[in-house]
Amino acid sequence: MSRLVDKFGREHTYLRISVTDRCNLRCLYCMPSESIVWKKRDEILQFEEIVRIASILVEMGISKIRITGGEPMVRRDLESLVARLASLPGVKTLAMTTNAVLLADKAAVFKSSGLTALNISLDSLQKARFQEITQRDDFDKVMAGIEAALAAGFESVKLNCVVMAGYNDDEILDFVEFVKDRGVNIRFIEYMPFPDNQWHKGRMLSSAEMIKTVEKRFRLVPLPGETGAVARDFALAGHSGTVSFISSMSDSFCGTCNRLRLTADGALKSCLFYAPEMSLRDAIRGGISDDELGKLILEAVMQKPEAHPPMEELVGMANRSMVEIGG
Ligand code: SAM
Ligand code: SF4
Repeated sequence: MSRLVDKFGREHTYLRISVTDRCNLRCLYCMPSESIVWKKRDEILQFEEIVRIASILVEMGISKIRITGGEPMVRRDLESLVARLASLPGVKTLAMTTNAVLLADKAAVFKSSGLTALNISLDSLQKARFQEITQRDDFDKVMAGIEAALAAGFESVKLNCVVMAGYNDDEILDFVEFVKDRGVNIRFIEYMPFPDNQWHKGRMLSSAEMIKTVEKRFRLVPLPGETGAVARDFALAGHSGTVSFISSMSDSFCGTCNRLRLTADGALKSCLFYAPEMSLRDAIRGGISDDELGKLILEAVMQKPEAHPPMEELVGMANRSMVEIGG
């Protein structure tokens, strides 16, 4: 089958699969404040369907898969999907992004099912503030989840922190202190606008500003990045922990983007900020062959825009909310 090369020459090797649009937290920057309409069970892809789509995409050159959501761990029997995706020949990295609320009891099971890497979202190290941001009282469970992930021996455990001016930007140095001797990577992410997610420019702190804050206390040493990586990575001189900055808004990385997204209801999204989608679910349920499905996927890849519009234009743009796309 053809490689996943778009009309700007970008080859796609990284697939993010959302397995549910439901979540057990209500993060202010992700979940719209007006209640969203959850997809019905029969609208969501079954594991069989996910594996079929993923295996075609792997044949077309995908080598890294990330499972996301909503909160992926609220989907029943997720470990069996992990095992099936891990066994696809050609998958070198199988990662998951999770809020870790349900991770403490499951980290070892996921590791033995074939998950290689975990990104855990944590936006505050303060219990009361965690509750304000997530609108749930689950801080202790998340911290236990992080400890379980570290004990389980994954190839990589990273923390994701969305930095919002006036909410948690005063904790940047606390986060660096938290990871510095644990061998963990902290990724500071710029706040992105999605429908009804309370974004405004004054609440977005740029990576450049975050770096200045970290450099007040630590010496940052640049590390070489992975191809297509969205983060700028730094070692912390004298420590095992590392720090990364994801500048999706102030300095976008569209030119080297290698990602495709499959939503929980089976839409292939070629770009986080490009609303048109291709429903692979409808094609599959209409009886399409694997060859034809490969051609349909390539058609969606060919429609991928060269770059997303600047942040001011993203506000108010028609799009799914982040909880429905999966990051
Ligand atoms: N529920 C899981 C979690 O929170 O890790 C996975 C899904 S969540 C949508 C995936 C990632 O998107 C998380 O790291 C989250 O912090 C990030 N995210 C959500 N909304 C965002 C926004 N408006 N700007 C930047 N990152 C965002
Ligand atoms: Fe749920 Fe993750 Fe969105 Fe928070 S960031 S509401 S945990 S999907």
